[in-house]
Amino acid sequence: MIGAGLACRLRFWGADLRRGSPIVRQLLDVRRSFADPDRGRSLAAIRLKRLLQHACSTTVHYREWAGRNELADFPVLQKRVIQADPEGFLSSAVDRRNLVTVSTSGSYGAPMRLHWVVETYIRRRAELLYFGSWLGFHVGARFAQITVHPGGSARLRQLNGFLVDPSVINEEWLETTRRLLKENRVAFIVGYPSSVRPLADFCRARGDKPHDFNLRGVVASSEALIPGTREAITAAFGCPVVDRYGANELGILAQECRGDRSHHVNVAGHVVELLARDRDEAVRPGEIGRVVVTDLFSYAMPLIRYDTGDLAVGCAEPCPCGLPGPVLARIEGRTVEEIRDPAGNLVNPLAISSCPKDLAGIIQYQFVQRSPDGYLLRLQVISSFHEEGVLRERFQRLLGPQARIDVRYVEAIPPLASGKRPYILNELANPPRKG
Ligand SMILES: [Zn+2]
Repeated sequence: MIGAGLACRLRFWGADLRRGSPIVRQLLDVRRSFADPDRGRSLAAIRLKRLLQHACSTTVHYREWAGRNELADFPVLQKRVIQADPEGFLSSAVDRRNLVTVSTSGSYGAPMRLHWVVETYIRRRAELLYFGSWLGFHVGARFAQITVHPGGSARLRQLNGFLVDPSVINEEWLETTRRLLKENRVAFIVGYPSSVRPLADFCRARGDKPHDFNLRGVVASSEALIPGTREAITAAFGCPVVDRYGANELGILAQECRGDRSHHVNVAGHVVELLARDRDEAVRPGEIGRVVVTDLFSYAMPLIRYDTGDLAVGCAEPCPCGLPGPVLARIEGRTVEEIRDPAGNLVNPLAISSCPKDLAGIIQYQFVQRSPDGYLLRLQVISSFHEEGVLRERFQRLLGPQARIDVRYVEAIPPLASGKRPYILNELANPPRKG
C-alpha cells in the first residue's frame, strides 16, 4: 500500500503526462529562468515584445499604440479603465469559448473579472509549484489552505490539502483547526497571516510545543506580515514563515527566500516597475513606489503597466542568499483594518471582499464598522446596478442577524488624509479625524 502523498503525486504528474506535460514544461521554464538569469532575461525580453505587439494588433484598447516597442511608451493602466471597457481589452486572437475567468476583489474595493487563456492558467500553476519548492513544498505534501476560497475543498483534497475557511475566527474554529493540523500531520500552511497568527497563539496557550506538529513551512499570503507575526508563528510551529506577494489576476509577483525578508520578484512571469505616487516615473532603490506590473502571460486580456494599488520599496543590493535578480524590501498597501461581528469575533477582511466580488456594476465600495453592531456599506455603482439585495444578504449572513447594515450610494469613496482609500474602515477602533 502506498501513502496518500505518493498516490497524489503519481496521480497529479500522471494526469499532466497524459495531457502532453504542459505543467512540467512550464515548471522547467520557470526553474531555468531563475537558475540561468541571463537566459531568463532574454526570454522575458522576447515575451515582452511579443505581448506588446499582440496587444496592439488584437485589442481595441491598444490599437493606437501600434508600432511602439518600448514598455515606457505605454500608459500606466488603472483598474477603472479596464472596468469601464473590459471588451476593449479582450484579444480577438483568442478562443472566447475557452477562457478561464479570474475575479479580483481589489484591495481598494474595485471588484473586477478578467480572463486568461488556458496556457496562462497552466503557467500560474507551475509558478505555484516552483515557489513552493523553495520551502520543500512539493506536490503530494499534506497542507492546509487557510483562505477564503469560493472554489470549495474538493480540488484541494485531490492535492492532499485541506481547505480551512477563516471567515470568522472564534474559539471553536481555533480548536478545530488545531486538531486538524495535529491529527493529519499537516506539513505546510498557506494562508492569511491574520488567521495563522491567532491559531499559533492559541496552540501555544494550550501548551503545544513545535514537535507536537509536523509543520515544515508556512506561506503567508494576501496580506502584509505585521511585525511580530512571523516570530509568533515560528515559536508555535517551529518552522520558517515565508511571505508571498501576489494577486488573483496576476499570480505570484514576489516571494521571500527562506525568511530573510527580501522578496524575489517573479521575473520569469512579470515585469515589475516601482513608480512614484504622483507621476509615472521610476523611483530610486529605497524609495516607496507604486507596484506596476506587466504580465508576460496575459494573452487573453493584456495587462501592460497595470497599477496594482500596492506600494513597495526596492532594494539596491542583491539578496544575500545569492539568487540574482530584483528584490523588494518592503511591500505595503496590503494592510487593511479589522472589523468584528456583533458577537465580537474577528471577521476576515477577505471574507468581506468576497461578498461583492462577482457582482456586476460595482465600481468601488467601502465597508465601515461604526458601532459594535452597526455597519455602513458605501457603494459606488453604475446606473444599471441591481444587486443590493444579494449583497445585503451576503453581509448579513457573514455578520449574523444582530448586525445592522446601512447601504449608502455615493458618487465616490472619500480618501483618507493619507490618500489611501481602504475598502474596510473601523471607525470604532480608529475614529475619523474631525475638521
Ligand atoms: Zn534570497
